[in-house]
Amino acid sequence: QPAPDYAQIIEQAHQKYKNNNDGKVADYIPALATYSPKFYGIAIATVDGKIYKVGDSSKAFPMESLSKVFTMALAMEQHGTQVVLDKLGANATGLPFNSGLAVELTQGAPENPLVNAGAMSTVSLIEAKDKTERWNKILNYMNDWADAKLVVNQPVFKSEMDTNQHNQALAKLMESYNSFYGNTDEAVEIYTRQCSVDLNVEQLAKMGAVLANKGKSPFNGKQLLNEKYVPQVLAEMAIAGLYDGSGKWLYTVGIPAKSGVGGGMVAVVPGEYAIAVYSPPLDQAGNSVRAQKTIEDVAHATQANVFLGQ
Ligand code: GLU
Repeated sequence: QPAPDYAQIIEQAHQKYKNNNDGKVADYIPALATYSPKFYGIAIATVDGKIYKVGDSSKAFPMESLSKVFTMALAMEQHGTQVVLDKLGANATGLPFNSGLAVELTQGAPENPLVNAGAMSTVSLIEAKDKTERWNKILNYMNDWADAKLVVNQPVFKSEMDTNQHNQALAKLMESYNSFYGNTDEAVEIYTRQCSVDLNVEQLAKMGAVLANKGKSPFNGKQLLNEKYVPQVLAEMAIAGLYDGSGKWLYTVGIPAKSGVGGGMVAVVPGEYAIAVYSPPLDQAGNSVRAQKTIEDVAHATQANVFLGQ
């Protein structure tokens, strides 16, 4: 079978959706409200190290929840998948990404590492001798995946720190149920910092390509995640990558993905490619509208669906 014409496929999607103005830019973090709803970039990174891109592909945006995938992967590298299952969980909450009710309903039982409560407890599980080392390990790990030197967007970080009372409360609630594994305030701060890291869709697609390529970056050749753990990372993405939109996504598109409220989204087709899309307007569940439409079209055009196999 000839390789799909990725360049043409993403160009067509960009044409089709660039004037779709559905959704709303996140504003619960004030700094996010300043991004134009017009921004729209797409990139594909293949397992053989090729990049295809269109639109605002070099526009930087904050990772937000996309960062949760890589901290979770680091926790797996450090502790293995059984510890991640026992301490962080792998079940959908059926509730919004920052739900306190979800924590209460389960009495703090680990939900999954991709909702806010679980993501903050993931940070607390990262082994490091102090706060600086914990942060450096997370950032350096993300840099290796992105094959770039990523930086924190300081205005976004400040804005999030000023307005993260809800996350602080979630973390305290988790702590009260013994589902936090280190200093709570420190984990909330590092979590907020990782959410504020800027990247563009090309870098995000490269990060996704590590998962598509059995844990090894097609761009710098580094084995960043034990090949054995890749299915568990993708399973967590399938369970909760799009929050309470995850089930419908898996049903209609069938490839594991993760979104962030900054408007970024990445999806992984194992053995083939990763696609990243940036477009700030979000649906009710907090997922980029154009990103979901774009990825759905590209998945169909390339006959990608993990439940179909190759
Ligand atoms: N920093 C954001 C928060 O904690 C990330 C949420 C998201 O992207 O879903 O609320």
